[in-house]
Amino acid sequence: MSLRIYNTLSRQKEEFHPLQAGRVHMYVCGPTVYDYPHIGHAKSYISFDVVVRYFRWLGYRVRYVQNITDVGHMLDSGEDRILKGAAREQIEPMELVEKYTAAYFKAMDQLNVLRPDISPRASGHIPEQIELVQKLLENGYAYEVNGSVYFDVSKWPEYGKLSGRKVEEQMAGARLDINEEKRHPADFALWKKAADNHLMQWNSPWGRGFPGWHIECSAMSAKYLGETFDIHGGGMENQFPHHECEIAQSEAASRKPFVRYWMHNNMVLVDGVKMSKSLGNFTTIAEALKKFSGEQVRFFILQSHYRSPVDFSDAAIAAAAQGLERLRNTRIELRKRLTADAHVSADGGRELAERHVQLFRQEMDDDFNTPAAIGRLFDFSRDLNRALAEGAPLGAAVATAFEELYVNVLGLGSEATGPGLDADPFIDLLVSLRNELRQKKEWALADRLRDGLASLGVQIKDGKQGATWSRG
Ligand SMILES: [Zn+2]
Repeated sequence: MSLRIYNTLSRQKEEFHPLQAGRVHMYVCGPTVYDYPHIGHAKSYISFDVVVRYFRWLGYRVRYVQNITDVGHMLDSGEDRILKGAAREQIEPMELVEKYTAAYFKAMDQLNVLRPDISPRASGHIPEQIELVQKLLENGYAYEVNGSVYFDVSKWPEYGKLSGRKVEEQMAGARLDINEEKRHPADFALWKKAADNHLMQWNSPWGRGFPGWHIECSAMSAKYLGETFDIHGGGMENQFPHHECEIAQSEAASRKPFVRYWMHNNMVLVDGVKMSKSLGNFTTIAEALKKFSGEQVRFFILQSHYRSPVDFSDAAIAAAAQGLERLRNTRIELRKRLTADAHVSADGGRELAERHVQLFRQEMDDDFNTPAAIGRLFDFSRDLNRALAEGAPLGAAVATAFEELYVNVLGLGSEATGPGLDADPFIDLLVSLRNELRQKKEWALADRLRDGLASLGVQIKDGKQGATWSRG
């Protein structure tokens, strides 16, 4: 049994073999931090989070790099997204970046998306980007005009190999390009000369300027993952031009293959139309989390394959939440049984667990097929419920197996997400219940509550005014 990944480059599923045994080096294009993250971001980063989690569960050492784009990502109008956001909010560009980077990570934490191992910022890697542009000039793949540097697509016959687009087609389809500096309309900027009043600009061998958007990913992935690495992920819409440009830049500079497996996730649709900021039909993650828990949103997204689009609606998340409830109940019942029955044999149900883990794994090995894997988890849950009802001896092995798939691989089971799930009111309730028990001199039960809370990191202090509690 081996893991197979759909590689956009070959347009087929390929058996996965890492460059270095036991290790996975993976890069995913991160957010441009100029506004609040929406459900489209949730789908993208939850999908790749499960990829990372699955590799780790299989025993690989993963280095996961996801950049923060804080300069150079232009809108179709030619405006820099960060500068536009800074003007909108009348703050410094880096204030804007700080604000929305924090918002992005907060939302990802609520969705239980693990933090990348490295989150490099484009603005923090200007020297690396300049070096790469210099290398491309030296190798003869780029040219400088009036302080800007462009990649010369005519020198790179493989341009289009990822997206399947031909340069001639791009010519025919290109909008009237008013940029007279370019030799060819398909050429793209590596470095742009900055106007005097441009807020983000740096010194370079070509004068004051700023990097083009694509160059950051080439520079930062090479720095942290090597010139050739295992997996590069991103949204389908970034295949062209962004990833095509990344390949051209990286391979023309290093003269080595850039990425071995290209993975692209599909989009979130609203009434059949892509959810996006530019279309104004987006729901921010924070808005969704007012109605649903992070776990529910996460489960809803994982019920579609990463390469399939997902139709977003409150009703669809609510339907997913019902299914999730069934799995949660199984987990709770299983835990109860294990704590209630001290005589269970550790091996009870081991065979059942092994069979279901195997089936789950087969689905995940098929290009991270989470909807099918979740289907297998429902089968597992159904068999567990039957065993629980029949009073069959179930031991730690079966509970561990269920936990691993549910928590470690799918990233579910994180209770502290979303509104209404804050633990404080529950702790207050337990503490007041304990007070009543003490008044009734039910000391044993009161102590059990105190000790139980202490084991969860909540300390109760009894005082003259009654009990108070603190964390830690
Ligand atoms: Zn990128």
